[in-house]
Amino acid sequence: MFIPEVLSPAGDMDKLKTAIAYGADAVYMSGKNFGLRTFSGNFEHDDMKQAVAYAHDRGVKCYVTMNILALEDDIRRVDDEIDYVAHEAKADAVLISDPGIFSRAKKVAPDLELHISTQASVTNSEACRFWYEQGAKRIVLARECSLEQIRKIRENIPEDLELEAFIHGAMCMSYSGRCILSNYFTGRRANGGACAQPCRWGYYLSEEKRPEDKLPIEQDEHGTYILSSNDICMIEHVPEMVKAGINSFKIEGRIKGAYYAAATTKVYREAVDLYLKDPEGYKTDAKWLELLDKVVHRDYATGFFFDKPIDNAQIGSERTYNKPAFVVGVVEGTDEKTGMYIVSQRNKLYRGDTLNVLKPDGWEEPVAAAEIYDLDMNPLESVPHPQMKFLMKPSRQIDLPPGTFLSRDGDKDEGILPNS
Ligand code: SF4
Repeated sequence: MFIPEVLSPAGDMDKLKTAIAYGADAVYMSGKNFGLRTFSGNFEHDDMKQAVAYAHDRGVKCYVTMNILALEDDIRRVDDEIDYVAHEAKADAVLISDPGIFSRAKKVAPDLELHISTQASVTNSEACRFWYEQGAKRIVLARECSLEQIRKIRENIPEDLELEAFIHGAMCMSYSGRCILSNYFTGRRANGGACAQPCRWGYYLSEEKRPEDKLPIEQDEHGTYILSSNDICMIEHVPEMVKAGINSFKIEGRIKGAYYAAATTKVYREAVDLYLKDPEGYKTDAKWLELLDKVVHRDYATGFFFDKPIDNAQIGSERTYNKPAFVVGVVEGTDEKTGMYIVSQRNKLYRGDTLNVLKPDGWEEPVAAAEIYDLDMNPLESVPHPQMKFLMKPSRQIDLPPGTFLSRDGDKDEGILPNS
């Protein structure tokens, strides 16, 4: 049986540490150039080195994305980056889609493990073999592969060629990144890491002689979002994914927040561990679905894994994210004098709020913020300021280790996206 790794997004140092605390086997990250998420924090060289060392000290692998399609100017400056990633930062692998960058990586860092990014749209065993013969160690399959196709691919490739698949998170409306909507509308290059995601925008129909008349197509009361795809969620299909031979379960979302990294990592960690421990008795825990519903997401579907996309995955009806819970604070420690928890604010919190609790070692029933104080022990009715530190006494005895996320259920569209 394949023992899959849980591979989590690490958009910056905070998210990397969070993903590791919540159970990731490996994380993927990017430097300031050559990765496809220029809007996540990403890592300066020194930070990358520290991040990799931090992960390695905890037995966690680090993969660095260099998966842009390189223009001529890009390829002229890629050697230094590969050299740094391999020999200074000492990352475990780089993710590449451009054959030019792949070729430079083999020359500059012959011992560095090379993974083929999903941007390369690998959808069959011959393409896998092609990259294997070039020296690739792992293929991140195109999101368009079904589980049945993955199973057949696995049967027809060398055993030591690893397969990675996106099992949770956002989809691209086209074959990943093979789209020029963003370039066309905004001048921002999707395959250079700067996609503005116009596939998520609302669209109208207009007749050529009356461009000012916008005719709504009216998919629903919010408008028409025919290019916006649902998110994948495969938490109910862990056994099938293991049986198909996927070595690495990849969670999308480097530009989402630390809470997202924590919750998704925790849920898939538990599911994989439970399945490996007892494949016969394995059952999806309803709590996992509940928790995944509390992180920022669009409506969930199973992507291309089972159904024709027209039946399931591609057409979202929502104009925005669902976000039923807001992180209001992250526990930083315990105040020695009072025994109360020191919490750093993320969204406004009121005394008496009922809080969901997500800890690195699991989750607990909600608890109320019975008393809250500033650091000088002045009682507070609310904590209004972002990042403000405050003391909290919960309504019952509960262990809240550093890194615990406290969230409250909220309305859709409320609050600040990056915290979730
Ligand atoms: S606009 Fe949408 S479909 Fe196109 S590359 Fe960006 S995310 Fe993908």
